[in-house]
Amino acid sequence: MDAIRTYVERNRARHEQELAEWVAVPSVSATGEGMPEAAEHARLLVESSGLTPRIVETGGWPLVTGHAPGPDGSPHVVIYGHYDVQPPGPLGEWDSPPFQASIRDGRMYGRGTGDNKGQHLAQLLALRALRDQGGLPCSVTVVLDGEEEIGSPHLTDTLASLREEIDADLAVWSDGPVHDAYEPTVSLGVRGALSFEIIVRGGNTALHSGNWGNVAPNPAWELVWLLASMRGPDGRIAMRGHDAGVTPLTSQERDALRALPVDTAAVLAGAGLDRMDAYPAPDGADPADGPGYNERLALPTFSINSLSCLDGDDHRTVIPAVAVARCDMRLACGQRVKTVQDAVRAHVQAHLPHAEVRFKVGMEPSRTLPDAPFAEAVVRGVGDAAGKPALLVPAQGGSLPIAALTDGLGLPCYGIPLANVDERNHAPNENLELRRFHEGIVTAASALLSIAGAQR
Ligand SMILES: [Zn+2]
Repeated sequence: MDAIRTYVERNRARHEQELAEWVAVPSVSATGEGMPEAAEHARLLVESSGLTPRIVETGGWPLVTGHAPGPDGSPHVVIYGHYDVQPPGPLGEWDSPPFQASIRDGRMYGRGTGDNKGQHLAQLLALRALRDQGGLPCSVTVVLDGEEEIGSPHLTDTLASLREEIDADLAVWSDGPVHDAYEPTVSLGVRGALSFEIIVRGGNTALHSGNWGNVAPNPAWELVWLLASMRGPDGRIAMRGHDAGVTPLTSQERDALRALPVDTAAVLAGAGLDRMDAYPAPDGADPADGPGYNERLALPTFSINSLSCLDGDDHRTVIPAVAVARCDMRLACGQRVKTVQDAVRAHVQAHLPHAEVRFKVGMEPSRTLPDAPFAEAVVRGVGDAAGKPALLVPAQGGSLPIAALTDGLGLPCYGIPLANVDERNHAPNENLELRRFHEGIVTAASALLSIAGAQR
């Protein structure tokens, strides 16, 4: 590992330059901005890291893959990342242009620095470092998704078509931030996600509330009643069947969740909150035994993201023509997108049949158990690089298309997040602490070395 550290230290300026150049290539999958150039740039990065690159058509934005064989009999590791980024958002809120890397106070700012270019580049540079120091310890297949930020609609099918040539033993991915406590972290599971809009229509235009009140049905009231029927004030999600298949956490997972350091009061205060959301204790349990902060991040959610009447911001005394709720649900392990969609549709049909539901992104949850093959090796490798034991996060709050690897390819999957907690991904002034970028290269290399040494 000392040789790897020296290599990383020696090449700091060059690596930062490569990240800056990568950030400068826009790759907004939602709008298409820069995508063809980005796929080509990703291909070149994969190639310059010593892998045989390939652009794989998906029906949407392509996957960029790369493969390099390791020693005979060594494990075969898939490294997953994504080269697309979120749209830059309100440009006025950026302190420097989103697609022009800018270094301030030890951080590189720019769209994609943390999510995900800095993180998969660290993985690629780790491969380069290992080759430079005598060769890859494992066989490696890199998979860079071009559609993660739009829900990876083609990933599962495309990977299934590559199943035979991939034929791997495990997958690792680097995305999202390290645990709040700034400890080295290994994530085992990610929640799924389903987003949708509920649209309720009234008259063909907004109507005068004096002339039409009590006569014209009000779509905003109807929408509010419908939403209130979907989740109660005690936090219980009332849509029958939405949680079909939810697999309870194993005692090992529960222990790992409880072991994660968290100062709940401080976390809440930091977000300007003085209370937690209501969440019911399991049936029959004392409400005081309700789930704690970390456990809640492993449970299903139902959030209203926004409510609007599409009538502008001014206050007019009208009955609106249309009311819209944008919602999302995070899916716990065992839930299925299709089942949850059916439950939402059936609930709306039963309570407000003229409401329209439009489903948007759907992502399955993914789970790897703490005693799955290579788990120990990955945790050890990440801890070795940091000089202290890595935290194990059985289920992380956010969503990633990892089910394409766990369920689709049957691989145990390990997340090694490298970004700072305040990376501001998806927001203006996205950034990556450069020391974490460089340290991330060491961490990724250490994980591969540890995997190579593991009993299969
Ligand atoms: Zn993202």
